[in-house]
Amino acid sequence: MPCGDGKYRHHTVRRSLPGPGLVRRLVVANPSFAARSYRDDAVVLRTHKLGEADRIITLLTKHHGQVRAVAKGVRRTSSRFGARLEPFMVADLQLVSGRTLDIVTQAVAKGAYGSSIAADYGRFTVAAAMTETAEKLTDADTESGTAQYNLLVGALAALSRSDHPPELILDSYLLRALATGGWAPSFTECARCGRPGPHTAFAAPIGGMVCSDCRPPGSPAPAPETVVLLGALLTGNWSVADASDPRHRREAAGLVASYLQWHLERALKSLKHVERS
Ligand SMILES: [Zn+2]
Repeated sequence: MPCGDGKYRHHTVRRSLPGPGLVRRLVVANPSFAARSYRDDAVVLRTHKLGEADRIITLLTKHHGQVRAVAKGVRRTSSRFGARLEPFMVADLQLVSGRTLDIVTQAVAKGAYGSSIAADYGRFTVAAAMTETAEKLTDADTESGTAQYNLLVGALAALSRSDHPPELILDSYLLRALATGGWAPSFTECARCGRPGPHTAFAAPIGGMVCSDCRPPGSPAPAPETVVLLGALLTGNWSVADASDPRHRREAAGLVASYLQWHLERALKSLKHVERS
């Protein structure tokens, strides 16, 4: 394969030996290179600058969980990556495993959701909240990576097509991402004792709606329509969700936010614990 575009420059070699000819020969001679190369679909969660022209890209891949990789030269206008490694983009990537960071060597666009999302402030803020949540959830839990990937890509596609109001796509995504991560809320039976609902009190720490016996003091009592909306957002019942009243959407959004905050904080604490031990 021709190496004329510098596709296979090795980062550590490049630092000490900047001559491209030398680098190419050294990399081709590296027998472990092919073994460390892999291909996967990924959605770009976040990017940040590295040096003069590079970026570190935080990715949620379909089969390798969350990956942090370097995209070399991506900030140059002549970059062969173009806009394919911008936030919210979905791409078929070729990567090479590194000791600390992987390296993106090729990117083929799969879902150009980034441009239509970035063009609209409301959609942009929703997409940013979704990718931030995905980053936190998949950092804490690597087992649900493929399910989280599919969920996020589906939500970004719906957002870019304006299938539903952006705030409903967000709240549906958040509930389903939490459920996929192992924190499925209950909006029908009591989240503690399982007594059949509908119930009137919401308790984020317990896991959703609770009966009068299980209700902690001071639990909010949302409107019945809000509880129906939450259930519809969790199950993807869009005919019910799209027909909901703005008042109930606002109330549902507040409850989703409190539920997310409660469970994400615990997820992140458990992650810190794992890293320390
Ligand atoms: Zn109960």
